[in-house]
Amino acid sequence: MYDLLLQDGTVIDGTGRARFAADVAVVDDRIVRVGDCRGRESRRSIDCSSMIVAPGFVDVHNHDEGWLLKTANHAPKTSQGITSEVLMSDGISYAPITSELVADWFVYLRSLNGLRLSDYRGWRSLDDYMSLLDHTTAQNTITQIPYANLRVLALGWGLQQADDTQRLAIRRYVQQGMESGAVGISTGLDYVAQCFATTDDLVDAAAALVTQDGLYVTHVRYKYGLLPALKEAVAIARRAGVKLHVSHLKAFSHEETEHLLQYIDSVAVQEVDFSFDVYPYLPGSTMLHSQLPYEVWIDGPLGVLPRLRDPDVRRRFADHLAELPLERLHIAWLATRDNAHHVGQTLVEFVAQRGVAPADALLDLLIEENLAVTFVYQFGDDRIMEPMLAHRKCLFGSDGIYFPDGVVHPRVYGSAPRILGPMVRDRKLFSLEDAIRRLSADPAERFGLIDRGVVRENAFADLVVFDAQRVTDLATYAKPHQFCEGIAHVMVNGQPVVDDHQCVREFESSPPGRRLYYRK
Ligand SMILES: [Zn+2]
Repeated sequence: MYDLLLQDGTVIDGTGRARFAADVAVVDDRIVRVGDCRGRESRRSIDCSSMIVAPGFVDVHNHDEGWLLKTANHAPKTSQGITSEVLMSDGISYAPITSELVADWFVYLRSLNGLRLSDYRGWRSLDDYMSLLDHTTAQNTITQIPYANLRVLALGWGLQQADDTQRLAIRRYVQQGMESGAVGISTGLDYVAQCFATTDDLVDAAAALVTQDGLYVTHVRYKYGLLPALKEAVAIARRAGVKLHVSHLKAFSHEETEHLLQYIDSVAVQEVDFSFDVYPYLPGSTMLHSQLPYEVWIDGPLGVLPRLRDPDVRRRFADHLAELPLERLHIAWLATRDNAHHVGQTLVEFVAQRGVAPADALLDLLIEENLAVTFVYQFGDDRIMEPMLAHRKCLFGSDGIYFPDGVVHPRVYGSAPRILGPMVRDRKLFSLEDAIRRLSADPAERFGLIDRGVVRENAFADLVVFDAQRVTDLATYAKPHQFCEGIAHVMVNGQPVVDDHQCVREFESSPPGRRLYYRK
C-alpha cells in the first residue's frame, strides 16, 4: 500500500534526460516507485495526466531565514515549487552571534528579512538557529556560514586587517560551521564588515573549507566593477583550493553580459570548479543603507545614525545618488507606521514630498526608520539576463526579500514559474528538462543535498506537479503579492505543502520541512 500515488503524469526527473510517462509512488517520505503502478493501492491518488511531475526546486540564494522562523508555510516560496532553501546568504545573518551583538545585527538586518528584537530566542550558533527550523516550517533548509558574522566575532566591525590570532579564530568558526552541517561560507562583499575584508583575509577563511570540501559562495564586490570583482572571487577560490559559487551574477548590458560569459567560459571554469545563480529579472532589490559609504559602518550598525548627520557623509551620499535614476527606484518597505504612506513611491516622488535635496531626504528617512528601509530597482531590459540564465553553470536563486506589507520585488513570488513559463515555454530559451535540472538536481548536488533534486526510487519525496502549458508568474512591480499560476501540488518529504493549487496553512502534525546537513 502506497501513501501517495501520482498517476499518469509526465516525469521530468531532474537529471536532464527526456521526459517520460510514469506513475510516481510514495511511502512515508520517500519515492518507492517510478513506473507503472496500475492496480496498486494507495491511501491517496492524484490524477496527473497532462501534468509534469518534477523534483522540488532548490532556492540557493534567498533571505528567508527570518520568515521561516515565524511561518509554518512560507507560501510565496512553496507556491513556486520550492521545497529546499539554502539560507544565510550574502555573508550576513542572525547566527553565529553573541548577546552583545544582537542589537547591532537586528538593526542591520531589519530591512532584509524581517525579524524584530522581540523574535530573538537566545540562539548563539548556526546550530542553535538551524535547529529552530527542523519540522517547524514547510521547506527543507540548509545553512551557509555567513562570513561577516565570523569577522565581527573575531575582530569587530572596523577597517583593520585580521591579524594571525583573528584569522585563526575565523578559521575555527568556519570549522564549527561545517561541523554543524553548513554548505560552506557565504560572503556579501558590498555589505557590513566584510566590505573591509582583504583578498588575503578571504583566502584564509576559505582555505578552512578544504578539509570538508565546502563551497565558497560569494556576492562579489559589485561596487568595484563586475569583471574585477569576479576575477577576485576566482582568485580567492583558486588560491584557497575550493569550489566557487557566485551569487546573483549579472551584467547590465548585452555587451557586458557577453564579456562576462566569455570570461566564465574561457577562464573561470578552467581555473576553478565554478557555478553561479541568477533570478530571472534584471532589476534588483536591497537595503537602502547598502548605498551608504562603507566608512559609516566602522563602529557597527548602532554607530551609524550619528554619522548620517555628518556633512561629509551627506555630500558623498549625494554624489552617489546623482548616479542613480531615482525615478526608477521605489521604496519597497520601511519599518514605521508614520512613514508607511511612502511605501510604493519612487524616490523622486518621496523626495518631492519632503521638499529637500535627495540625499537629505533619504538620510533623514534612514534616521527616522533606524536604517530599516528596503528599495526596488525598476529599470533595464530583462532580456539582458537571458544568456546568463541559459548557461550550463547557472543555478536558480530567487534572492527574494519579502515583506507582507511591502511593495516588494516580484522575484519573491515569481522566479521559478517565470523560468518555466515565459523563459522556457514562450521564449524557448532552453528546454524544460534543462530548466528542471538547473532548478533541482544541479543545485541539490552543488549544495550537498543528498537524495534530493531527482525523481527516482529511494530519493526523498520532494515533488512538484505542474501544468507546463499554464505555468507562469503573475507578480509585478506594482502588484507583487500574486501567487503564480499552474503549480498544482507540491510535496516536501512526502507531505503536501501545496494541495490542489492551495498552500497548506495548517499541518496535521508538524510541518514537513527538515533541517538538512551538507552531504549527509
Ligand atoms: Zn547579494
